[in-house]
Amino acid sequence: MILSWLQLPIVDRINIAIIGGGVIGLSIAEQLSRRESDVYVFERNSNVGMETSSRNSGVIHSGIYYPPGSLKATLSVKGRDMIYRLCEKRDIQCKKIGKLIVGSGENAVVQLERLLKNGEANGVNDLSIKYRDEIKKIEPKVEADYAIYSPSSGILEPYDLLTMFRSKAERQGVMMALRTEITSLRFTGSDFEISGISSGSRFTVAANTVINAAGLYSDRIARMAGIDIDSAGYRLHYCKGDYFRVSGKPPIKSLVYPLPQEFSLGIHLSPDMAGSLRLGPNAYYVDRIDYRIESDPREFIDGVKDFIPSVSGMDIHPDSSGIRPKLQGPYDGFRDFIIKDESSRGLYGLINLIGIESPGLTASPAIGDFVADMYFREIKG
Ligand SMILES: Cc1cc2nc3c(=O)[nH]c(=O)nc-3n(C[C@H](O)[C@H](O)[C@H](O)COP(=O)(O)OP(=O)(O)OC[C@H]3O[C@@H](n4cnc5c(N)ncnc54)[C@H](O)[C@@H]3O)c2cc1C
Repeated sequence: MILSWLQLPIVDRINIAIIGGGVIGLSIAEQLSRRESDVYVFERNSNVGMETSSRNSGVIHSGIYYPPGSLKATLSVKGRDMIYRLCEKRDIQCKKIGKLIVGSGENAVVQLERLLKNGEANGVNDLSIKYRDEIKKIEPKVEADYAIYSPSSGILEPYDLLTMFRSKAERQGVMMALRTEITSLRFTGSDFEISGISSGSRFTVAANTVINAAGLYSDRIARMAGIDIDSAGYRLHYCKGDYFRVSGKPPIKSLVYPLPQEFSLGIHLSPDMAGSLRLGPNAYYVDRIDYRIESDPREFIDGVKDFIPSVSGMDIHPDSSGIRPKLQGPYDGFRDFIIKDESSRGLYGLINLIGIESPGLTASPAIGDFVADMYFREIKG
């Protein structure tokens, strides 16, 4: 049943308010409600997971790319293992289809070796370099001199993961307030006054703890709480990625990626759980949230035809798009996830999650765990 805030039992105070019903907010709700009661998820859309959480590649990353010691590295490696355990328990379905990161020429082998060492430093211990003949045995249609092979990369249907978090959370008593947008957040000195619009009507409620998991809007929520997002380094930049779907029988069964690029992992080929194949996403900065597909399909064919020439003869058609909530602007270097208890700013009881771009889906169960630890240690203390 889909309820707005006003259809839920009327209360003027709640224990924990989670803003955002994406995979991150729902994972946190599932974790916290194991031990806490009176947990609410506020989601402005008519259902959960309608934004970035359902507009991605659905790839379970193994944890190769991110700087060792970063949250992106540690939480994706841990999250990947947690997801595979959920699959073994049949809580969700996934497929460990493996991944090739391909390159040709002398420069490529140097970059691939560097990437492999980075992956190993992150605890990804099953990586190997493959040469042309070995690549052909794994994927006969791929043309490349070298590749990193990552057998523990896989795929899932993102909606299955977030639905599993949602069902478990609801069974543990979490209330889902859908069609409920938070429009103001104020620390009173002892708790938070949260106001919003639920199915067209205004409401205000007090909360002991607020967890900001609002994805593309999380910097705005932080600003509502009184944080100067520029000096805090919380301002988000939107980096869009379009996808095209390949018609007909997929020429590959594994994930096939080029060497990573500055702002993204590069246009890649990802089979999905239904057995079809997508190309993308590309990466371009935009200044507003608009999911219409704007890219030229030739960019996608050109992006992969060097390593999968057979794609040139295939039909592709626009599929979907997603927008990365990036802390890294067009001229910046690497930025990690921000997951922060804000008591050092005097905002006791606020946890911000900002910049949860890829590998956020993979990391989601580990992020839920991480935030629950932070809550019980720093806030409940
Ligand atoms: C193109 C693309 C490809 C990706 N591919 C992968 C991949 O293959 N593997 C991987 O691990 N990760 C991938 N990611 C990253 C992953 O999708 C995200 O990290 C993850 O979905 C983030 O989830 P979230 O819950 O933080 O955000 P969201 O899903 O955006 O959820 C935030 C929610 O907050 C709600 N909200 C916002 N403001 C308010 C408000 N004021 N009041 C109430 N509700 C509000 C929104 O409606 C939204 O539902 C990809 C991302 C993109 C963009």
